[in-house]
Amino acid sequence: MAAGVWFRKCLRLHDNEPLVKAVASGLDVVPFFILDPHFDKSRVGVNRFNFLLQSLKDLDGQLRGRGSRLLVFRGQPEQVLVELFGGKAPVHLSAIFWEADTEPYARARDERVLAMAKEGGVHAEKLSGHTLLDIDATVAKPGFKPPISMKSIQTIVNAVGPFRQPFDVPKIPPLKIEGHHVPDISELYDEEPSSEGFPGGETEALARLQRTCSDVQYVCCFEKPKTASTGRPGSPWEPSTTGLSPYLKFGCLSVRTAWYAIDRCIRGKSHSQPPQSLHGQLLFREMFYLLGAAVPNFDRNEGNSMCKAIPWGCDENLLAAWEAGKTGYPFIDALMRQLKQTGFMHHLGRHAVACFLTRGDLWQNWTAGRDVFDRLLLDADWAVNNGNWLWLAGVAPFSAPYFRIYDPCPGPKSSLNADQTGEFVKHYVPELRNMPAKYLYKPWTAPVTEQKKAGCIIGEDYPKPIVDHQRAREENLAKFKAALDAKGAELPAKFGGAKGDPGPMRSSYTSGKGATGKGGKRADTPQTEDGDSRKVRRWGKKLGDTVAGG
Ligand SMILES: Cc1cc2nc3c(=O)[nH]c(=O)nc-3n(C[C@H](O)[C@H](O)[C@H](O)COP(=O)(O)OP(=O)(O)OC[C@H]3O[C@@H](n4cnc5c(N)ncnc54)[C@H](O)[C@@H]3O)c2cc1C
Repeated sequence: MAAGVWFRKCLRLHDNEPLVKAVASGLDVVPFFILDPHFDKSRVGVNRFNFLLQSLKDLDGQLRGRGSRLLVFRGQPEQVLVELFGGKAPVHLSAIFWEADTEPYARARDERVLAMAKEGGVHAEKLSGHTLLDIDATVAKPGFKPPISMKSIQTIVNAVGPFRQPFDVPKIPPLKIEGHHVPDISELYDEEPSSEGFPGGETEALARLQRTCSDVQYVCCFEKPKTASTGRPGSPWEPSTTGLSPYLKFGCLSVRTAWYAIDRCIRGKSHSQPPQSLHGQLLFREMFYLLGAAVPNFDRNEGNSMCKAIPWGCDENLLAAWEAGKTGYPFIDALMRQLKQTGFMHHLGRHAVACFLTRGDLWQNWTAGRDVFDRLLLDADWAVNNGNWLWLAGVAPFSAPYFRIYDPCPGPKSSLNADQTGEFVKHYVPELRNMPAKYLYKPWTAPVTEQKKAGCIIGEDYPKPIVDHQRAREENLAKFKAALDAKGAELPAKFGGAKGDPGPMRSSYTSGKGATGKGGKRADTPQTEDGDSRKVRRWGKKLGDTVAGG
């Protein structure tokens, strides 16, 4: 008889409570992973699957270094587990431990497994660990209100007190079983994964955290709205932010380990504050996990209290051009091609492409963009992805004002912080490699002689703009406003339309940091990137910088 540690996320040895508990049971310990056919090519892009397999190989290697190993089974989890519980597989489990997962698919699966374990007399325990807060316990507390601002998430966190410290790696008993190896990506996908950027696994996660925290000044001064959307000079694929999200998504890195590493950097020093700081970013993650667990239909337009009804269009050609990076807007196209090629995109890049797809230019449903991100992102995360798409579509109480539309051709004063050398665009849109930098974000404005010299005729070698931004923007603003007016929609709280919590923008404003945006824009008069200065004051209260974090 043995205790199984069912790895799903939490692909690490450090701060792994299910592993600690399994070892403490005194039974033999069987670490295993199930490759579930639910997560097939239609749901998971090659880069994320490769990241997963690399993470499993890293885990297996670390366990082998301790005389144990990882067993990988393939099949529908309930079918695999019924065999492990019944002793038909290479092991016979009398106990099983796993980390709780609050995504809807995982919840339903785990409920079924808990029932099976109960019926089979197997001790089963799920333990909170993927987030700083115990999400279900927090949501179940009397008086819990879904947080829609940094202030409200901070109130929840402060009431809980300090987060528990990470667990040490326990002494794992040896395991001698053959077979059930981690497959290679070539066995499962025809496509080649990207070689840029993010090797999967706990070893790389801890090394990346260590690299980040060795630059104490970077951590202390981190302000998300000031980071570049176009990567680091010389390495446009390397994020200007920490790049920890894929590791947090798969649990190669414990969020508590990250939290306390940052804490050690900033303690006793002057440092940035939430929502802009690194701790602020991790708190946004908690906020979206709580919302995902507490708000029914959080991933839908209908029946979702965090989503205003907007009559989005549905045009497959527009969506396909956006997804393929062929809109004729080089900044948008470079970002979307980066996503496809590498599985990553900077946060402000995500702002730009999400705004462009929805209320900014193409007027497509946020759920369509959400699905593309869900398939292609290395860090695709149900709660965080839905929460951020709601934010960017302008439909949630925590959204930026719907009329704050990004210019898809970002100049030096844009809050999208895009390089003006064109390095990022040239890397991901090679058709424009020889286009002079001054035309790079608007290549259709280059004289034909310049286009010929650059070897890129617009409309032949690279598309013309798919929509006229100025016209699309005006039409969309009118449609959005009409939808709100038609419904007599209450203005979101942050517009001053309700007495409650004013939203994350307000938190940013009151923090006293970044009250003046880049380029001297006052944060309380959030102009659009295109210079539209409809003042929020019209509705009463002031706002903070809208690019704080979400
Ligand atoms: C439309 C859209 C969709 C997004 N989808 C996802 C997603 O599926 N998965 C995901 O992890 N992030 C998502 N984000 C949030 C954010 O863009 C990424 O977490 C961030 O870019 C990852 O890079 P980083 O690790 O360098 O972040 P850093 O700035 O270094 O932040 C550190 C960590 O904080 C967390 N974090 C940062 N920003 C946010 C945020 N806005 N919301 C919640 N957590 C945050 C992440 O875990 C991140 O790794 C999305 C943002 C937008 C605008």
